[in-house]
Amino acid sequence: MGYEVKESYQDWLWEKLGERCIKNLNKHGFDAHLVRTVEEARDLIMGMTDGFESFGFGGSDTTRSLGVMEELKKRGKTIHDHWQQGLTKEEDLEIRLRQGRCDCFLCSANAVSATGEIVNVDGIGNRTNAMTFGNKKVVIVAGMNKVAQDLEGALTRVREVAGPMRAKSLGMETPCAETGLCSDCNSPQRICRITTILHRKPMITDVSVILINQTLGF
Ligand code: SF4
Repeated sequence: MGYEVKESYQDWLWEKLGERCIKNLNKHGFDAHLVRTVEEARDLIMGMTDGFESFGFGGSDTTRSLGVMEELKKRGKTIHDHWQQGLTKEEDLEIRLRQGRCDCFLCSANAVSATGEIVNVDGIGNRTNAMTFGNKKVVIVAGMNKVAQDLEGALTRVREVAGPMRAKSLGMETPCAETGLCSDCNSPQRICRITTILHRKPMITDVSVILINQTLGF
Protein backbone atom coordinates (compact mmCIF):
# COMPACT_ATOMS: atom_id res chain seq x y z
CA MET A 1 0.00 0.00 0.00
CA GLY A 2 1.47 3.39 -0.91
CA TYR A 3 0.45 6.92 -0.14
CA GLU A 4 1.13 9.31 -3.00
CA VAL A 5 0.53 12.21 -0.69
CA LYS A 6 0.99 11.79 3.03
CA GLU A 7 -2.32 12.96 4.46
CA SER A 8 -0.79 13.21 7.88
CA TYR A 9 2.02 11.85 9.95
CA GLN A 10 -0.57 9.77 11.80
CA ASP A 11 -1.47 8.01 8.54
CA TRP A 12 2.21 7.37 7.91
CA LEU A 13 2.87 6.05 11.40
CA TRP A 14 -0.18 3.80 11.30
CA GLU A 15 0.81 2.55 7.88
CA LYS A 16 4.19 1.48 9.25
CA LEU A 17 2.63 -0.09 12.34
CA GLY A 18 -0.04 -1.73 10.17
CA GLU A 19 2.55 -3.24 7.84
CA ARG A 20 4.37 -4.80 10.81
CA CYS A 21 1.10 -6.09 12.16
CA ILE A 22 0.02 -7.61 8.83
CA LYS A 23 3.37 -9.34 8.40
CA ASN A 24 3.12 -10.94 11.84
CA LEU A 25 -0.56 -11.86 11.50
CA ASN A 26 0.25 -13.60 8.22
CA LYS A 27 3.12 -15.44 9.93
CA HIS A 28 0.55 -16.64 12.47
CA GLY A 29 -1.65 -18.15 9.77
CA PHE A 30 -4.19 -15.35 9.42
CA ASP A 31 -5.05 -13.92 6.02
CA ALA A 32 -4.27 -10.28 6.84
CA HIS A 33 -4.72 -7.10 4.79
CA LEU A 34 -4.13 -3.39 5.33
CA VAL A 35 -6.33 -0.95 3.39
CA ARG A 36 -6.84 2.81 3.45
CA THR A 37 -10.60 3.17 3.18
CA VAL A 38 -13.88 1.63 4.21
CA GLU A 39 -14.73 1.21 0.51
CA GLU A 40 -11.57 -0.84 -0.10
CA ALA A 41 -12.43 -3.00 2.90
CA ARG A 42 -15.97 -3.54 1.62
CA ASP A 43 -14.76 -4.59 -1.84
CA LEU A 44 -12.24 -6.96 -0.31
CA ILE A 45 -14.89 -8.57 1.91
CA MET A 46 -17.40 -8.90 -0.94
CA GLY A 47 -14.71 -10.64 -3.00
CA MET A 48 -13.58 -13.02 -0.30
CA THR A 49 -17.12 -14.03 0.68
CA ASP A 50 -18.50 -14.51 -2.81
CA GLY A 51 -20.33 -17.83 -2.90
CA PHE A 52 -21.25 -17.85 0.77
CA GLU A 53 -24.96 -17.82 1.62
CA SER A 54 -25.31 -17.21 5.35
CA PHE A 55 -23.64 -14.46 7.37
CA GLY A 56 -23.49 -13.59 11.04
CA PHE A 57 -22.63 -10.14 12.36
CA GLY A 58 -21.15 -9.60 15.80
CA GLY A 59 -22.18 -6.60 17.87
CA SER A 60 -19.81 -4.25 16.12
CA ASP A 61 -20.15 -0.67 14.91
CA THR A 62 -17.14 -1.12 12.64
CA THR A 63 -18.53 -3.99 10.55
CA ARG A 64 -21.85 -2.19 10.23
CA SER A 65 -20.17 1.00 9.02
CA LEU A 66 -18.79 -0.72 5.93
CA GLY A 67 -22.07 -1.14 4.06
CA VAL A 68 -21.40 -4.88 3.73
CA MET A 69 -24.62 -5.90 5.43
CA GLU A 70 -26.71 -3.77 3.03
CA GLU A 71 -24.85 -5.18 0.04
CA LEU A 72 -25.36 -8.76 1.21
CA LYS A 73 -29.07 -8.14 1.77
CA LYS A 74 -29.35 -6.78 -1.79
CA ARG A 75 -27.84 -10.03 -3.01
CA GLY A 76 -30.44 -12.03 -1.09
CA LYS A 77 -28.05 -13.53 1.47
CA THR A 78 -29.21 -14.74 4.89
CA ILE A 79 -28.11 -12.39 7.68
CA HIS A 80 -28.04 -13.24 11.39
CA ASP A 81 -28.04 -9.86 13.13
CA HIS A 82 -29.00 -9.56 16.81
CA TRP A 83 -29.00 -5.74 16.58
CA GLN A 84 -32.34 -5.79 14.72
CA GLN A 85 -35.12 -3.83 16.40
CA GLY A 86 -37.95 -5.55 18.21
CA LEU A 87 -36.44 -8.98 18.83
CA THR A 88 -37.76 -11.05 21.69
CA LYS A 89 -35.23 -12.51 24.14
CA GLU A 90 -35.70 -15.92 22.52
CA GLU A 91 -35.18 -14.56 19.01
CA ASP A 92 -32.06 -12.71 20.15
CA LEU A 93 -30.65 -15.91 21.61
CA GLU A 94 -31.51 -17.93 18.50
CA ILE A 95 -29.72 -15.41 16.28
CA ARG A 96 -26.63 -15.40 18.50
CA LEU A 97 -26.55 -19.21 18.25
CA ARG A 98 -26.89 -19.11 14.47
CA GLN A 99 -24.04 -16.60 14.22
CA GLY A 100 -21.81 -19.44 15.30
CA ARG A 101 -22.97 -21.84 12.58
CA CYS A 102 -22.97 -19.94 9.33
CA ASP A 103 -20.77 -19.65 6.26
CA CYS A 104 -19.14 -16.42 7.37
CA PHE A 105 -19.01 -14.46 10.60
CA LEU A 106 -18.05 -10.78 10.48
CA CYS A 107 -16.93 -8.90 13.54
CA SER A 108 -14.37 -6.47 14.84
CA ALA A 109 -11.62 -6.95 17.40
CA ASN A 110 -11.11 -5.06 20.62
CA ALA A 111 -7.37 -4.97 20.06
CA VAL A 112 -4.78 -6.35 17.67
CA SER A 113 -1.09 -6.50 18.51
CA ALA A 114 1.56 -5.58 15.97
CA THR A 115 3.22 -8.82 17.07
CA GLY A 116 0.28 -10.69 15.49
CA GLU A 117 -2.29 -11.55 18.17
CA ILE A 118 -5.98 -10.68 18.30
CA VAL A 119 -7.58 -9.82 21.66
CA ASN A 120 -11.28 -9.68 22.45
CA VAL A 121 -13.43 -9.24 25.49
CA ASP A 122 -17.04 -10.34 25.61
CA GLY A 123 -19.90 -10.40 28.07
CA ILE A 124 -22.03 -13.18 26.57
CA GLY A 125 -19.45 -14.98 24.46
CA ASN A 126 -21.33 -15.44 21.19
CA ARG A 127 -18.73 -13.33 19.39
CA THR A 128 -15.67 -14.90 20.96
CA ASN A 129 -17.13 -18.37 20.27
CA ALA A 130 -18.07 -17.60 16.67
CA MET A 131 -14.60 -16.17 15.99
CA THR A 132 -12.88 -19.44 16.75
CA PHE A 133 -15.08 -22.40 15.83
CA GLY A 134 -18.29 -23.26 13.99
CA ASN A 135 -18.16 -21.02 10.93
CA LYS A 136 -16.37 -21.73 7.66
CA LYS A 137 -14.86 -18.29 7.61
CA VAL A 138 -14.38 -15.36 9.96
CA VAL A 139 -13.64 -11.83 8.82
CA ILE A 140 -12.30 -9.46 11.47
CA VAL A 141 -12.27 -5.76 10.58
CA ALA A 142 -10.53 -3.17 12.72
CA GLY A 143 -9.42 0.43 12.50
CA MET A 144 -5.74 1.13 13.11
CA ASN A 145 -6.72 2.84 16.38
CA LYS A 146 -7.11 -0.70 17.76
CA VAL A 147 -3.56 -1.82 16.98
CA ALA A 148 -1.15 -1.89 19.91
CA GLN A 149 2.60 -2.47 19.77
CA ASP A 150 2.51 -5.84 21.51
CA LEU A 151 0.26 -8.31 23.32
CA GLU A 152 0.60 -6.54 26.65
CA GLY A 153 -0.39 -3.27 24.98
CA ALA A 154 -3.39 -4.97 23.37
CA LEU A 155 -4.57 -6.34 26.73
CA THR A 156 -4.11 -2.89 28.25
CA ARG A 157 -6.11 -1.33 25.44
CA VAL A 158 -8.98 -3.73 26.09
CA ARG A 159 -9.04 -2.75 29.77
CA GLU A 160 -8.37 0.97 29.45
CA VAL A 161 -10.16 1.89 26.23
CA ALA A 162 -12.48 -0.75 24.78
CA GLY A 163 -14.13 -1.81 28.04
CA PRO A 164 -15.01 1.63 29.43
CA MET A 165 -16.09 2.99 26.04
CA ARG A 166 -18.26 0.00 25.25
CA ALA A 167 -19.84 0.08 28.71
CA LYS A 168 -20.58 3.80 28.29
CA SER A 169 -22.01 3.32 24.79
CA LEU A 170 -24.33 0.58 26.03
CA GLY A 171 -25.52 2.71 28.94
CA MET A 172 -24.25 0.17 31.46
CA GLU A 173 -24.25 0.98 35.16
CA THR A 174 -20.62 0.08 35.70
CA PRO A 175 -17.91 2.06 37.51
CA CYS A 176 -16.02 2.64 34.25
CA ALA A 177 -19.07 4.20 32.62
CA GLU A 178 -18.88 6.86 35.35
CA THR A 179 -15.14 7.34 35.80
CA GLY A 180 -13.66 6.15 32.50
CA LEU A 181 -11.40 3.82 34.46
CA CYS A 182 -11.62 0.06 34.72
CA SER A 183 -11.74 -1.16 38.32
CA ASP A 184 -12.07 -4.88 37.49
CA CYS A 185 -15.58 -4.46 38.81
CA ASN A 186 -18.10 -6.88 40.21
CA SER A 187 -21.01 -4.98 38.73
CA PRO A 188 -23.99 -7.13 37.65
CA GLN A 189 -23.73 -5.26 34.34
CA ARG A 190 -20.02 -5.99 33.91
CA ILE A 191 -19.45 -6.51 30.18
CA CYS A 192 -15.90 -7.92 30.47
CA ARG A 193 -16.44 -11.55 31.40
CA ILE A 194 -14.51 -13.45 28.76
CA THR A 195 -11.14 -12.49 27.29
CA THR A 196 -9.79 -14.39 24.31
CA ILE A 197 -6.44 -14.21 22.56
CA LEU A 198 -6.06 -15.63 19.07
CA HIS A 199 -2.34 -16.41 19.18
CA ARG A 200 -2.53 -18.27 15.88
CA LYS A 201 -5.27 -18.98 13.33
CA PRO A 202 -7.66 -21.51 14.88
CA MET A 203 -6.92 -24.96 13.43
CA ILE A 204 -9.96 -25.48 11.23
CA THR A 205 -11.37 -21.97 10.83
CA ASP A 206 -10.27 -19.67 8.05
CA VAL A 207 -9.73 -16.17 9.53
CA SER A 208 -9.14 -13.00 7.52
CA VAL A 209 -8.14 -9.76 9.23
CA ILE A 210 -8.65 -6.41 7.52
CA LEU A 211 -7.04 -3.37 9.10
CA ILE A 212 -8.29 0.00 7.88
CA ASN A 213 -5.91 2.95 8.24
CA GLN A 214 -8.53 5.04 10.01
CA THR A 215 -10.11 5.46 13.43
CA LEU A 216 -13.10 3.14 13.60
CA GLY A 217 -15.06 1.92 16.60
CA PHE A 218 -13.52 1.35 20.00
S1 SF4 B 1 -14.40 -4.85 34.22
FE1 SF4 B 1 -16.07 -3.49 34.86
S2 SF4 B 1 -15.07 -1.53 35.22
FE2 SF4 B 1 -13.66 -2.74 34.00
S3 SF4 B 1 -14.07 -2.14 31.87
FE3 SF4 B 1 -15.27 -4.00 32.33
S4 SF4 B 1 -17.28 -3.24 32.97
FE4 SF4 B 1 -15.82 -1.53 33.12
